[in-house]
Amino acid sequence: MSNVASILESPIEFLKGVGPQRGELLRAELGIATFADLLHHYPYRYSDRSQITRIGFIDPRAEYVQLQGTLVNIIEEGEGRKRRLVATLYDDTGRIELLWFQGAQWMKKTLKQNERYLVYGKISVFNGNINIAHPEIELLSAETASPGRQPMYPTTEKLRSRSITNRSFAKLTQALFEKLKPGDVTEILPPEIMNRYRLCSRYQALKWLHFPDTEEHEQVARHRMKWEELFLSQMLIGRLRLQHTAQAGWRFDKVGDNFNNFFKEHLPFELTNAQKRVLREIRQDTGSGKQMNRLLQGDVGSGKTIVALMSMLLALDNGFQACIMAPTEILAQQHFSGLSGLLQEMGIEVRLLTGSVKGKPRKEILQQLADGSLRIVVGTHALIEDEVRFRNLGLAVIDEQHRFGVGQRARLWQKNELPPHVLVMTATPIPRTLALTMYGDLEVSVIDELPPGRQPIKTILARDMQRAKVMEFIRREVDKGRQAYIVYPLIEESEKLDYESLMEGYGQVKVWFDENRYRIAMVHGRQEAGERERNMHRFVKGEAHVLVATTVIEVGVNVPNASVMLIESAERFGLSQMHQLRGRVGRGAEQSYCILMAGSKVSDESLKRLKIMESTTDGFRIAEEDLAMRGPGDMHGTQQSGLLKFKLADIVQDSGILEETRLAALHLLTADPTLALAQNQPLRYTLSQQRKQAHWGKIS
Ligand code: ADP
Ligand code: MG
Repeated sequence: MSNVASILESPIEFLKGVGPQRGELLRAELGIATFADLLHHYPYRYSDRSQITRIGFIDPRAEYVQLQGTLVNIIEEGEGRKRRLVATLYDDTGRIELLWFQGAQWMKKTLKQNERYLVYGKISVFNGNINIAHPEIELLSAETASPGRQPMYPTTEKLRSRSITNRSFAKLTQALFEKLKPGDVTEILPPEIMNRYRLCSRYQALKWLHFPDTEEHEQVARHRMKWEELFLSQMLIGRLRLQHTAQAGWRFDKVGDNFNNFFKEHLPFELTNAQKRVLREIRQDTGSGKQMNRLLQGDVGSGKTIVALMSMLLALDNGFQACIMAPTEILAQQHFSGLSGLLQEMGIEVRLLTGSVKGKPRKEILQQLADGSLRIVVGTHALIEDEVRFRNLGLAVIDEQHRFGVGQRARLWQKNELPPHVLVMTATPIPRTLALTMYGDLEVSVIDELPPGRQPIKTILARDMQRAKVMEFIRREVDKGRQAYIVYPLIEESEKLDYESLMEGYGQVKVWFDENRYRIAMVHGRQEAGERERNMHRFVKGEAHVLVATTVIEVGVNVPNASVMLIESAERFGLSQMHQLRGRVGRGAEQSYCILMAGSKVSDESLKRLKIMESTTDGFRIAEEDLAMRGPGDMHGTQQSGLLKFKLADIVQDSGILEETRLAALHLLTADPTLALAQNQPLRYTLSQQRKQAHWGKIS
């Protein structure tokens, strides 16, 4: 294809002004290896460089200023780590200090005493003096541009210290555009789509994105590139979906003794209608001769596990093995004990395979899976490792999917000649926009009904000064025979602080719960896995009255007797995360409570968020609010989910474009499912490149 040998694939050092040294830096620091990479290194904003401020008239409240003056007193100051380069810039109205903390030596070599410079940077005020740290600085010459809107590029300290600044990026990109003809930038969107959705050409968009003459041009360019990003993701997902529908799968054509016996003799309760409906959908899928790829969505406590279990029995009835994969050891452990409890009476062996199962037991499990004598295995990521081989895997269940990516799902496909059926379960209600980008390739089942007899959890917002009342309330509940969770936040950046506040909290809890009468267990991330599990176990078994914990208890843990949860510093939790936590109570028949304790200094904004928790237990509403307020990157676990990374698009703000691209992709794939038509070739090539990048290769 013509675009393969395109000039855009030239190594970056071949660009005028780059060369081997800078080339190496760009590659190492920002992954810019080719002309194309530079072209897609977009500015994050544009600065107004039309004004030059006179030094004596700098407004200390202004953010960025552009100055012009003479450079003097270039000296190094300080010792060791505090070493820095200081220089003074003056004009006829005043003087200002310029500072470099990194790359001081390099700058010292480059800067020239008594020369006139153009300087641009962010001002800061220190001890009443204004200065600029790491400014962009350039010798004033006839050539020095006095441009209007200047693109501002993401860069790194290291690049800046080697004087690869915004200006350098702008210059390099400019040089690149001088070499490019419009035809060098292959249009990847089919003409029909460009017309229909009124999109500007790719070349034009890229040019305007870097160098917009007007704000309108910038917007047109951004819109086009966002559209492209979202469209590509919808095409990838759409094609994956088509592939799924065409993929042959094992046929589970009978419902046998395992399933029937369990249903008649061992099922500890009546299934809800929603559970029955989902089981019917799964039976239909697995009996169709096509591979199942189904997402089972159900709020916390809606009873997904039993559906998974019965689906696994269906696999066994048809001569297949089944596995269930959980995101953490504790959760895998819980599934393991839950399932073994239920299946023991039926004489079905279940074993646990996690990273911490080693040596002989591990070998034994691997052997049993390979020879088929073990039919059900519960585990963590350990299950997708290559050394795990099944004799005949028919169904893989993935619990709490949001921690697994599309790529990891794909690895399961390798575990049998035909890929196993895949059932993905998630408790996080997924807003539509996120579902479209993450799971658009899956069929969806929903459990929209809670098991009967559950009373809605009462959520109460409390302030620190009410602590005594709150603790007394919890103690009364415990005296009635219930158990309570007390949860502290854990945020990685300040792990140490969090640990301290947990310990302090533990001390406080002991004041209210006298150790002679009450037993308190504690779990946190600094404990060894074994110790953590033992403590958790004490609570699960009812041996401890109170569990003091960080968010490690978040997913899946099931202790029906626990009816109170106190969340400390609730303002520091995400809403979806709190919803998950809250789902740990309200699992039994007792009235359950969730108390959100807000710190003394919470903002109105945070209080507003907490009020949402108070007013609804609807996981979908909460997830929507969360997504709108915090953005998808923050939503629990989505970072690791193997989502396509978008450079410009934001699935919340650009949900309108997302919807448009979904329809466009659907439309195109209906007309040309294999992208065989001539006008779709550039698109097809781009998609194949993207698939490689997303590590989806194994699916095909
Ligand atoms: P989740 O969907 O959050 O994974 P679980 O599968 O852990 O929920 O189920 C939550 C609790 O509800 C468990 O104690 C389970 O035994 C119970 N449960 C599930 N289905 C029913 C039902 N149909 N009737 C009564 N209790 C049920
Ligand atoms: Mg669960």
